[in-house]
Amino acid sequence: MAKQGKLLIFSAPSGSGKTTLVRFLLSLDLGIEFSISATSRAPRGEEVDGKDYYFLSEEDFKKRVIHGDFLEWEEVYSGTMYGTLRSEVERIWEKGNAVIFDMDVVGGLNLKSLYGDAALSIFVMPPSMEELEKRLRGRQTDSEDKIRQRLAKARKEIGRSDRFDHILLNNDLATAKKEAESLVRLFLGK
Ligand code: 5GP
Repeated sequence: MAKQGKLLIFSAPSGSGKTTLVRFLLSLDLGIEFSISATSRAPRGEEVDGKDYYFLSEEDFKKRVIHGDFLEWEEVYSGTMYGTLRSEVERIWEKGNAVIFDMDVVGGLNLKSLYGDAALSIFVMPPSMEELEKRLRGRQTDSEDKIRQRLAKARKEIGRSDRFDHILLNNDLATAKKEAESLVRLFLGK
């Protein structure tokens, strides 16, 4: 059986700043590596295949689901699938690194229930719904319809935040970075 390591799960509504926090943690020398998810959506902006996501066609994604390649997968928005490949996590653990996930709330909770104490789950809380809406509009990558979908999903996700090991408020980015670093160092014993 493949070697099992630790997991760091960062979940939040889209636009909460979790990606910024995850990138910050990756820039520190903590022996952690990003789990690249697979998705059936098209690349956005500067996104690169094999770096930001493994971009798969819907057909390929479904084939891999049937084949049992995913640890978890979900239809996050209608018609768009996202998932964690078993091979990705095993590749990272084989190197002796911990895996860090940037993932939606349902996926994060699913992974936490699969791995229990080997996983640290952190919910990144946006300062307010108004601020979240401002950030989503500021990205200028999504249509009005997509923004509405994301906001509706965010409300549901915030309702599940108490199921995480920690809630990290991202009001001031510098403070949130420090808190994230302390939590991760404590969990990894570094
Ligand atoms: P985006 O399209 O904005 O990159 O991501 C949409 C949502 O899908 C985000 O909340 C993101 O965290 C989530 N997501 C990304 N990768 C995965 C994954 O592997 N599994 C699950 N369940 N959700 C994911």
